[in-house]
Amino acid sequence: MFEKIVIANRGEIALRILRACRQLGIRTVAVHSVCDRDLKHVKLADETVCIGPNPSNQSYLNVPAIIAAAEVTDAQAIHPGYGFLAENADFAERVEQSGFTFIGPSAATIRLMGNKVAAIEAMQAANVPTVPGSNGPLGNDDAKNLKIAKDIGYPVIVKAAAGGGGRGMRVVHTESNLLSSIQITQSEAKAAFGDATVYLEKFLEKPRHVEVQVLADKHGNAIHLYDRDCSLQRRHQKVLEEAPAPGVDPEARAQVLEACVTACKNMGYVGAGTFEFLYEDGRFYFIEMNTRVQVEHPVSEMVTGIDIIREQISVAAGNPLSVTQDQIKLNGHAIECRINAENPNTFLPSPGLISRYHPPGGPGVRVDSHIYSGYAVPPHYDSMIAKFITHGATREEALKRMEIALSESLIDGIQTNIPLQRDIVTDATFLSGPVSIHYLEKKLGLS
Ligand code: ADP
Repeated sequence: MFEKIVIANRGEIALRILRACRQLGIRTVAVHSVCDRDLKHVKLADETVCIGPNPSNQSYLNVPAIIAAAEVTDAQAIHPGYGFLAENADFAERVEQSGFTFIGPSAATIRLMGNKVAAIEAMQAANVPTVPGSNGPLGNDDAKNLKIAKDIGYPVIVKAAAGGGGRGMRVVHTESNLLSSIQITQSEAKAAFGDATVYLEKFLEKPRHVEVQVLADKHGNAIHLYDRDCSLQRRHQKVLEEAPAPGVDPEARAQVLEACVTACKNMGYVGAGTFEFLYEDGRFYFIEMNTRVQVEHPVSEMVTGIDIIREQISVAAGNPLSVTQDQIKLNGHAIECRINAENPNTFLPSPGLISRYHPPGGPGVRVDSHIYSGYAVPPHYDSMIAKFITHGATREEALKRMEIALSESLIDGIQTNIPLQRDIVTDATFLSGPVSIHYLEKKLGLS
């Protein structure tokens, strides 16, 4: 096992990684920006290194500073968390070239999955179901592109191979708009990602977002930790997640879980990862793989009892997975609400001093958060300040516990989306079963 690792992130995930390290007896180095010196994990870490000013491009994205921090503290590995450098293949490569272990898959795997066209090909080879589409990049032959779209059937979506974060996509409803949409997406992709490659997919009109959590080690073992439903989204940002995904066709699910494990084995995947799917009319359609730990990993931890981050660190150190697939049993249901420092109506960020904080508690309640009374939420980073997670024997019980948890929570001094979350977990349609990825925006009157 590693003796010391650098946590190259901030906020709740940095604290979550620190806790996993303590469980494993690993010493921790917290690297932080100037304004983040009061973060909870920075206070708790064995060593701290300030890596730069507040803007993330000068601190949490400052590769030389992070690698230098690992060097001066004599650490062996770097955990990237999520966001920032977590899916940056060049960073993973630099870390390894500098003699440290990158806690995640190889740079080659990150690069492969970062290209959506290549990722789809790798998935098809493992029998992972994909969205009907162009099966490869579009060329310059207009007539051919028109034929591909016609064969797929409208509406279609033009997507940038190098796209990410919900950018580089355009829905096309009629043939007359196809060629111009391809052109616009190509030039946008070139400007945003430095790669003009685009491809076509069938646009699914009312899908759910269902994803599969996997873990794999360096010995060829791979397992899945079942699925999550993350359909409640606003502007492609997940708001509430749950595990397992309710009401999924059992046969389609069994097939897709197995295919994800096969895909991991085929590509020599190492660490924690997520296969994201759209799910419509009983069928799964792969959209992308995230090669890192996800914000919503706790719901899978709650229903399987597996500490995903501990496994992730352990396999990076070369240990085999601590469990086999048949030891993973689904237990009950879990819900996660992302708590953001934002105006609940306008969604504008609401940074500032937290004057009073009372987190929820009680049976089946978990809080992953770095905030405390007297903590000032800085304006420089993501607005998520906490994750409330509830577990219950059934979906109803987990949801009821979340309703209670939200009602007893108090975060004073800043605005939060707790009112919105309370609204969601008492929404009759959502309570009665799964909803599509458009449900929340419709409910909010945004689409
Ligand atoms: P990104 O990497 O930018 O997140 P994704 O490929 O994961 O891109 O797609 C982001 C979101 O765009 C999906 O969650 C879904 O809401 C929508 N989307 C992508 N592809 C399709 C499709 N074929 N049909 C319908 N919606 C889609």
